Amino acid sequence: MTSLEKWRALSRAWSVRIAAIGAALYAAVLALDPVQLQATWQSMPAELRALLPEHVQAWIGLALMIAVVVARGVPQPAVDRRLSLLAAPAWQAAARATIARRITSIAIHCSATPAGRDVRAATIRGWHKAKGWSDIGYHFVVDLDGTIEVGRPIAQAGAHVQGYNNNSIGICYVGGLAADGKTSADTRTPAQKAALVALLRELKARFPAAAVKGHRDYSPDANGNGRVDRAEWLKDCPCFDAQAEYADLRA
Ligand SMILES: [Zn+2]
Repeated sequence: MTSLEKWRALSRAWSVRIAAIGAALYAAVLALDPVQLQATWQSMPAELRALLPEHVQAWIGLALMIAVVVARGVPQPAVDRRLSLLAAPAWQAAARATIARRITSIAIHCSATPAGRDVRAATIRGWHKAKGWSDIGYHFVVDLDGTIEVGRPIAQAGAHVQGYNNNSIGICYVGGLAADGKTSADTRTPAQKAALVALLRELKARFPAAAVKGHRDYSPDANGNGRVDRAEWLKDCPCFDAQAEYADLRA
């Protein structure tokens, strides 16, 4: 018996067929992409492909087709969420939490603390609770080192922009004042800038229609010229032009 004959005999054994179909189904479920599956088939050594008898190929093809149809029929977001939550950081899981509120805007704030002062969400939570609030007013806090901390659950309205809390999500980066503790300044570290973009992308994927604004952009348009001018800002927060910087940000 030549080795080729041995392989042929082996490929006819049911155990091998079942293993092949199992592997194919596994690949189909993993990839869910006919193009990728095709590529995987093509990447198999030609000898191996030739060894699979005609009808086994047909069975694998049918199984793949059924697997793809079934997989496509399964509600994708649920599957995606369960799979990705396993590896997702806490903030990403928090950003994907189910909520009943309608989100029309995402507000960027600063903590109004001097550049370089390493304030964390726990401290801000303490400040806000001292004011008699139930919890920290922001939904996310972006630390100096780029760590994204979870504040109030997004399912709940925050306490960060008067009059707009019900339909917004509040993000606070730590900083916003120069070292003197008085002068407004864009003190965002490179790590904070990157973290803000990552967080905003995640939220824009979830709420594509939500406008990204700085806290100051919510100030009333006192002279009615259609935009909120510098003179109309009730405060400087977040001390940079968030609206312009994130205008083209997409998920
Ligand atoms: Zn603010």
